[in-house]
Amino acid sequence: MAVSDLVTPDRPKQSDLDTCVHCGLCLNACPTYRELRVEMDSPRGRIYQMAQVASGAPISPSYIEHIGLCLACRGCETACPSGVRYGRLVEAARAEIEPQIQRPWYARWLRGFFFRKLLPSRLNLGIVGTALYLYQASGLKWLVRVLGFLPAKLRDIESLSPEIEAPFFFPYYGKTLAAEGSQRYRVAFLGGCMANICFARLNEATVRVLRKNGCEVSIPEAQTCCGALHVHAGLADDARKLARQNIDALLDGSFDAIITNAAGCGSTLKEYGELLEHDPAYADKARRFAARVKDITEFLASIELNTEMDAQAMVATYQDSCHLAHGQKIRAAPRNLLNSIPGLELREMQLPDMCCGSAGIYNVLHTNMALALLRKKMDAVNATGAQCIVTANPGCMLQLSAGARKFGQGQKVAHVVELLDRAYRVKQDSKPAS
Ligand code: SF4
Ligand code: SF4
Repeated sequence: MAVSDLVTPDRPKQSDLDTCVHCGLCLNACPTYRELRVEMDSPRGRIYQMAQVASGAPISPSYIEHIGLCLACRGCETACPSGVRYGRLVEAARAEIEPQIQRPWYARWLRGFFFRKLLPSRLNLGIVGTALYLYQASGLKWLVRVLGFLPAKLRDIESLSPEIEAPFFFPYYGKTLAAEGSQRYRVAFLGGCMANICFARLNEATVRVLRKNGCEVSIPEAQTCCGALHVHAGLADDARKLARQNIDALLDGSFDAIITNAAGCGSTLKEYGELLEHDPAYADKARRFAARVKDITEFLASIELNTEMDAQAMVATYQDSCHLAHGQKIRAAPRNLLNSIPGLELREMQLPDMCCGSAGIYNVLHTNMALALLRKKMDAVNATGAQCIVTANPGCMLQLSAGARKFGQGQKVAHVVELLDRAYRVKQDSKPAS
């Protein structure tokens, strides 16, 4: 390991940069390169620019722009025959860039509030969630839309924004829910951050499906946001603080698995070992924590699944979430679970593991690129004739829901676990009362 790798963990490692042999086999797997055909917006071009900076070139506005336009989808990692760890390269490049970016005071304040005050705080999420819920439920949102108050750019962003789901998921924190039938596992569930207010029903469905499969489910009180959005935004130290809190909250619980239903979160949680590798007090604990993290689809596909389900007559297509397929290398598990639902026909779309343009808050920061990618994704979905688009990450669900409205044929969007939950519930509801 080079000495520079030890001095600061938050810049691309020379050893990772040196792995790239500039063959270009990753180019066609890169959504931004396919869209723009610009070498500097390809994985190879971005690695070249990182190497230039590592050898002393300044961090220029153009470098910041090309690294910023990357989705961090890691499609290039899957395509690369040399094993380049592109995901951690781009995250380290962003962490190195972050202190150099000049922002106006209001953008600094907004960013600070979002990452440091909102995401890690259930109290603040509850306050903001309530205000947004009232805005949406009172008809004000509808009025603003109809009267066309928003400028075009904000209208596009607003069309990608989530619906708030009341009641929120917060009352579940600190609770342990018993398995249905005989208990086979003890698991912890991570509720996420925004998911508590935007995907409360998905979180509840996840808990129900786990209980149906013999799991006692704990939702530990002291857990917090996983830090994935912070890592992607170059705020590595903030992510480390959150990682330490989660480790302290969950590691000693002796859980069989620590479960998440968000592929983006799972990818970061499984990389806590790398995030804290330079922290002597937490490096070992972080590795042990990471080894216990499981995506919900990965966990369910690895156990003997409860198959007491009712038929769900539908044609569905599965969109691989980038951080599940490329980040965690999980492709078969969600498909196997879908195929276990009676009556469900799974039809593959073209390029199911090409990013839909969601990528955390990318669709808000780079709305035009996100919409261009979404349009292509929906062309592939429409060609299947599926009535339902299934995926395994809340962020992708939001983006695909917007896609179905804007460019689709009115398809429904669901998480894998929601379809399982529905199949279990219909079966239960149709049982004769004893
Ligand atoms: S990242 Fe991999 S596939 Fe892309 S140019 Fe480098 S070695 Fe080739
Ligand atoms: S992470 Fe995605 S967008 Fe970024 S270079 Fe790789 S393939 Fe392209």
